[in-house]
Amino acid sequence: MTRIIAVTNQKGGVGKTTTAINVAAALAANDIKVLLIDCDPQGNATSGVGVQKTEGMQTLHDVLIDGKEAKTAIQQTEMEGLDLIPADKNLIGVNLQLVNVDDRESILRKHLHGLRGEYRYIIIDCPPSLDLLTLNALMAADAVLIPIQCEFFALEGISSLIDTIDRVRDSFGHPLEIEGILLTMYDERTNLARQVAADLREFFQDEVLKTVIPRSIRLAEAPSHGKPILLYDPGSKGSEAYIQLAKEILKHEQTRSAKSAR
Ligand code: ATP
Ligand code: MG
Repeated sequence: MTRIIAVTNQKGGVGKTTTAINVAAALAANDIKVLLIDCDPQGNATSGVGVQKTEGMQTLHDVLIDGKEAKTAIQQTEMEGLDLIPADKNLIGVNLQLVNVDDRESILRKHLHGLRGEYRYIIIDCPPSLDLLTLNALMAADAVLIPIQCEFFALEGISSLIDTIDRVRDSFGHPLEIEGILLTMYDERTNLARQVAADLREFFQDEVLKTVIPRSIRLAEAPSHGKPILLYDPGSKGSEAYIQLAKEILKHEQTRSAKSAR
């Protein structure tokens, strides 16, 4: 079974791409086949795993707009077991190009059907907006992982994200789960971060993941070297945190299969 997780929060700069890259890599480190899909025209997940757009390289845009098979857009990365479907700035056009297309919110979902079974996990990095790209990611996903930065205004925009998730469930009848809310860029030395983290746990209760991602320069540096933190600085705090997050996600999988076996 393939589990598809969309990493989403329409607030910018909260750690979506850092999380998508590094949780994908940490899952792959468990001998699991993982596909990372860059669904953001900024292309940060693409460059962050060291893939450079070359002449003739297929991207997510070619899949969504030209109907190219998803398989033809897959690139290998330096991390064993981790593949990528890249994106570049052309992807921005999708919002307009799909406006008059039937089932325009389900195009990614249809394309990923053919890949279910090839990968244990598919991780989708979403753009910082609630546009058609994000909607396609949510419709394709089994669950969402929502990074929230432990700072003031952490909850800004969360209600519109929750509304969108509800709309996907109710209007489109898609049983989207919440994999978890992930506290990112946590600086334990500041009272503010501790207070925000406590407030988020009180508000979202068990939906907040146990793993917390610390603020770390090494995590911020890794993408400029085109590497996940597991390759850039394997022993670092940031690397350990994402390994822990992958474990927590794998544990959810065991809990779900134990429940369904009952
Ligand atoms: P966007 O909304 O633009 O797509 P994003 O939500 O994907 O942004 P990232 O690109 O992952 O966010 O992170 C924003 C910035 O913060 C980047 O410069 C990144 O390197 C840095 N960053 C992310 N996580 C951490 C962390 N745990 N510690 C320190 N810096 C971090
Ligand atoms: Mg991003």
